[in-house]
Amino acid sequence: MRRSLRRAPVRLLFTEYPLPDASRRLERRIADMPPVADEIMTTTCYMCACRCGIRVHKKDGKPVYIDGNRDHPVNKGVLCAKGAAGLKNHFSPARLTTPLKRVGPRGENAFEPISWEEAFELAVSWLKPIRDRNPKELALFTGRDQSQAFTGWWAAQFGTPNYAAHGGFCSVNMAAAGLYTTGGSFWEFGDPDWERTEYFLLFGVAEDHASNPIKMGLAQLKERGVKIVSVNPVRTGYSAIADEWLGIAPGTDGLFVMALIHELLRTGRVDVDYLIRYTNAPWLVIQAPGTADDGMFARGEDGHPLVWDREKDEAASSASGEIKPAMKGEVILPDGRRAVPAFELIARRCLDEAYTPAAVAERTGIPAETIRRIADELAQAAFEREVVIEEPWTDCWGRHHDRMIGRPVAMHAMRGISAHSNGFHTCRTIHILQVLLGSIDTPGGHRYKPPFPRHIPCPAKPTGRPSQIAACQPMPGMPLGFPGGPEDLLIEDDGTPVRIDKAYSWEAPLAIHGMMHTVITNAWKGDPYRIDTLFMFMANMAWNSAMNVPGTLAMLTDKDPETGEYRIPHIIYSDAYQSEMVAYADLVLPDTTYLERWDAISLLDRPISDPDGVADSIRQPVTTPDRDVRPFQDVMVELGYRLGLPGLTNADGTSKFPDGYKDYLVNHLRKPGVGTLAGWRGENGGSAGKGAPNPGQLDAYVANGSFWRHEFAPGHRFYKFANAGYLAEAKELGLIDHDAPIVMQLYSEEMQKFRLAARGHGPHQPPESERERIDTYCDPLPLWYAPFGSQDGTYRLHAITQRPMAMYHAWGSQNAWLRQIHGWNRLYIGQAVAQRAGLETDDWAWLESRHGRIKAQVAVMDGVNPNTVWTWNAIGKRAGAWALDEHASEAEKGFLLNHMIDDLLPERDDGHRYANADPVTGQAAWYDLTVKIEKAAEGGSEPQFAVLGKGARAIGKEPVR
Ligand code: SF4
Repeated sequence: MRRSLRRAPVRLLFTEYPLPDASRRLERRIADMPPVADEIMTTTCYMCACRCGIRVHKKDGKPVYIDGNRDHPVNKGVLCAKGAAGLKNHFSPARLTTPLKRVGPRGENAFEPISWEEAFELAVSWLKPIRDRNPKELALFTGRDQSQAFTGWWAAQFGTPNYAAHGGFCSVNMAAAGLYTTGGSFWEFGDPDWERTEYFLLFGVAEDHASNPIKMGLAQLKERGVKIVSVNPVRTGYSAIADEWLGIAPGTDGLFVMALIHELLRTGRVDVDYLIRYTNAPWLVIQAPGTADDGMFARGEDGHPLVWDREKDEAASSASGEIKPAMKGEVILPDGRRAVPAFELIARRCLDEAYTPAAVAERTGIPAETIRRIADELAQAAFEREVVIEEPWTDCWGRHHDRMIGRPVAMHAMRGISAHSNGFHTCRTIHILQVLLGSIDTPGGHRYKPPFPRHIPCPAKPTGRPSQIAACQPMPGMPLGFPGGPEDLLIEDDGTPVRIDKAYSWEAPLAIHGMMHTVITNAWKGDPYRIDTLFMFMANMAWNSAMNVPGTLAMLTDKDPETGEYRIPHIIYSDAYQSEMVAYADLVLPDTTYLERWDAISLLDRPISDPDGVADSIRQPVTTPDRDVRPFQDVMVELGYRLGLPGLTNADGTSKFPDGYKDYLVNHLRKPGVGTLAGWRGENGGSAGKGAPNPGQLDAYVANGSFWRHEFAPGHRFYKFANAGYLAEAKELGLIDHDAPIVMQLYSEEMQKFRLAARGHGPHQPPESERERIDTYCDPLPLWYAPFGSQDGTYRLHAITQRPMAMYHAWGSQNAWLRQIHGWNRLYIGQAVAQRAGLETDDWAWLESRHGRIKAQVAVMDGVNPNTVWTWNAIGKRAGAWALDEHASEAEKGFLLNHMIDDLLPERDDGHRYANADPVTGQAAWYDLTVKIEKAAEGGSEPQFAVLGKGARAIGKEPVR
């Protein structure tokens, strides 16, 4: 009976099983239960980056319970462990309680509480002189900030180009490669067509980033019996439920994908019609080595790229939808120059012997026959299981299509492939594979989430050229943007970087998310210059967000021997919690929790759209702070007003947004009719996308469950890059500036422009020292090269981290409920490594890299690449931080790999050291780490740092265990 009960659906308890007394007792207990809440408010979760809709149940004004909002487009009511545990972040004993001013040496955690008025006065006393003399002396960097459209704009108003959020050390390779290839990418940019795909390929996913939405999607695939193939050095999380796991060697995903493409091209299984219609595959590339046009597209007088009309045997404009262009063969252009279709160059590259399955098998760890089989399965799914939706649509060339035909192969990739020094090209190669199969934004394939796709390159350029920076002046545009070539770099006349992080310089030309991971080192070295104030928001740069943690702490506390002042003179830090970074600030601005503020998940930033509709959402305060804290965004509005920033101050000296960020959300206009929120615009709230500010806008959001969504007509939902109806509607909504077709760029002319500059052409050329690097890595074709870190022969084991599904960065591992799931982390090793090093589960081991050494407790497992060790990220804590007991397991047994990861690459011949990053985008190369392992005699994780909190005052309540 017991066994039957466990298996039976709950509803049977009351109908089919003879337990009348028990059921009556249960019914009585349910009836007697006091109501959980007396009020329910909707808002948006901030326990990870998925931005699910939640309902916060309140009792006597206090949040007591969180569940998912069933009407919300992101999660449809699904709530994960992190989301439910948001209460414990909200009530965390680690919450900061009042503004703080440092009173002891940096790093000792000694502060005195000050009033907000004193805090503002102190901040203004540092920031105003900077703005008056040289705005670049302020570096404003934010972490997992979901208000980047605002914080970036604030930096521009201040006049500094030195702004970015954490994308540079997270997944900018994925974003940049996608945006420069397809006008979209994975995660926030697009989704698999979960409903229709027939084959799903998953690369290196960080489970916490794509959490509920991907779990819901994977569940659909499992229900439909769709094959899931996971390519990941470690079989955890989503890989554990995959039908096939390929335990690839870290950093070789691009090589594996090149071999897949090789096989598809060799067997002639690519979607040629799709390539001709929607990509630059037929565009003619000039072949004139040594000239300034070599590798550029041949263009007609109207500026459109040329193709070769096979029927007329002559050059024709690619803008015409009627021609049948050649995809191979060299042609002679009317001006006598030679040219070949871009597709031929791609085919030549990918069909190279270096990319045969046999050639890549050993390095990737994936047998050649497996690679051939996966290529075959991809082709079968794409071309033999075609998906058709009977929905007519019209393309940009006026051609009517009766139906939508799809290639049902979908892919998803995230940080695991991104965080390598070859990550940009790897991500680009994955996108090229999707395009060759004809599966981008077709039924069953990978679908854009509006406002994506965007035109290539995105029209917004980075701002911060020397002529755009002046004392007391705002910059004329946003700091981050999309270079179209060397002319858009932010460099001085002598080629040195304008930005403190060196983004958009010859060292990282497409650093579209900035390079936060380089700021502290560069500021300390004064390379390219010294700054006055480092202002950071929720970025734990003194611990789990830093490479080279010991070195970073030394730089934060180092003093200039000549002046006796800190080499980074002022550090302002805002956070809701007492993270490790707090101890290194001079001024601490305590933020609220996510349940205590207004916020927007904006189309100007990273919205919550889905492939069928465009959407954004808000956070509303569901409770009032019981501490002397303020929302960071409110503080920035006030600070901007006190500094007299033009966007925040009226001509008469009054504040433009006296009601703070809430006021800004409704009334700020980024351009005519376009504000932070797209829903209920216009004076009466009747407009979508564009319209005048609506005083009742936030009320409308709240009444609608804290989100807005506009669904596209069925005929506008696929082929968005060339769907005339979609593009017109997207333009009308303000998602794109013009409705010309978005042509996917298999061959990247932008990259070729950088390469030509390196070869001595054009007015903007790199210094001699950068020519070879730019020439090598700014390759217009897909490319694989070994990650920089793996070229060290002494340290042959790869060491990587995975994100635990139940935690989001450092926040999750201080949460009283979630730390019961992962209270500390182990170093996971495979059987072969264990045998070689004489290790067993529970032993302790030393791990050593070329940069540092840590000690960790091991666990032996199957399901890991034989040359890889790994651990969970961001669980190890510094003793005394986060209001945890100094003997907390996170501190005594937990550990970080960060201490072993150098933030710089080894010296070049002339002594220069590049950032440990991708040479194209500047993405931090966390996963290039290589190590050696040996058994340790005794336990306890190392290194240990001085316990934080000994000198702390006014941080919050007493530490709790
Ligand atoms: S997936 Fe992320 S945003 Fe959604 S409920 Fe979980 S923690 Fe919150």
